[in-house]
Amino acid sequence: MQIYVRIARYTLEKDIIAQNSNSFGLTIPANLLMYYGKSLAKFIIKNPRPFFIDPVTYILVYPRNMLKRDNSELQVDRGGNYKLKKSYDKLVRAYDKGLIDLFKSDNPLPTSYFDDPDNVEKFVRNNIAYQKNLLTNSLDKISRYEAMVGEEIPEKSNLKPEFLTAPYFYFGDSSDPWYDVNIKLSQLTKEFSSNDNVYSIICTHKQSLSSTLADEIVSDFDEVDGYLLFASNFEEYVEPIHSLRRLKSFVSRLYEKSSKPILNLYGSFLSVFLNYYGMKGVSSGLCVLDHKDVLEEVTMAIARIKFYLPSIRGFLVENDYKTYLERFNPSDECDCNLCQTLANKKTSLSTRSYVSGIDKLFSIYRGKLMTSAMDHFLHCRLNESELVNTKSLSEIRAILETNRRNSRRYAHVLNTSNFVDRILRI
Ligand SMILES: [Zn+2]
Repeated sequence: MQIYVRIARYTLEKDIIAQNSNSFGLTIPANLLMYYGKSLAKFIIKNPRPFFIDPVTYILVYPRNMLKRDNSELQVDRGGNYKLKKSYDKLVRAYDKGLIDLFKSDNPLPTSYFDDPDNVEKFVRNNIAYQKNLLTNSLDKISRYEAMVGEEIPEKSNLKPEFLTAPYFYFGDSSDPWYDVNIKLSQLTKEFSSNDNVYSIICTHKQSLSSTLADEIVSDFDEVDGYLLFASNFEEYVEPIHSLRRLKSFVSRLYEKSSKPILNLYGSFLSVFLNYYGMKGVSSGLCVLDHKDVLEEVTMAIARIKFYLPSIRGFLVENDYKTYLERFNPSDECDCNLCQTLANKKTSLSTRSYVSGIDKLFSIYRGKLMTSAMDHFLHCRLNESELVNTKSLSEIRAILETNRRNSRRYAHVLNTSNFVDRILRI
């Protein structure tokens, strides 16, 4: 099981990523690649690890997502047109400068755009070009400057993505015209880049996941080397059991028929568990973005602090986590700084001093809590990945049985879901 951390709040995340092992990869959304290219190039040179780029092209069909700025109203330029967010403005220009006007007037990209073979070719060639070259070119620019000021020029190795991803759009089912556009885009990406591994992103409605769709994908996308799954608004932690089963059947079938790697572009512990059924990797943000609705407006509103609790395989909101720490033993499954410190305090202090320490942590020191929670989550997720890499399915089931008992213990004090119970019953 390979873990990928999706870059979302780069300036907050980069130190946490750098301080942890290089046993996990990165998912880089293309708009952030455009925006932070130089910084990301330097960062990956210093902290080498596998990565891939999410072209996020589906968003071109929902332009309002590209227009809305952080917590603010839509902005209009002097000509009365909407202004795109900078990172999306750069992304749209990287594909086709001619499309800017369309999005400035808040119009979606129509499927008819891809009826013109020239447009398809331009789109595919530009997608391959920036995925393969943008980081290297960014580093070249930095290097030229650094050579001028006499600094050492960094090596350019490690700046190639692990695999290329074809442009993709959301489709309701295989009769949706966007499904055919996706086939065209994937086929041509592999044709133009036959020496590279190319993955297709299957971006669809969660209820469309079925064995039939898996069979269609195997035959319609047979040239590609792997699949990334993006089931819109599939929040594993709250989905009912029949929905979790649907994901499991889809993944098993796709793997059984294709034998190709399958990664979940947005997932949580269920995706880690599905390693036993053909899921090879899972990507999510640090405490954010373990699911995504294609229609949801993109705003980087300050996220509430959430804490991962390994024994429920899910997050607790701040108050629930505080209650958890006050009433139960801090997690012994995690060796992050936060858990280690809390475990030491729990054994060395009286209950009263420990509880007042927790109070201080959540009031006076809360500034550091956000990054501590992100670091803690990363440790937990890497531990889970290690578990499925080293344990048999029956051993994991035994661990989850213990988790299920624990979840019941907390149920009367904490607002938790019975996620582990549902996983055990799929
Ligand atoms: Zn921890």
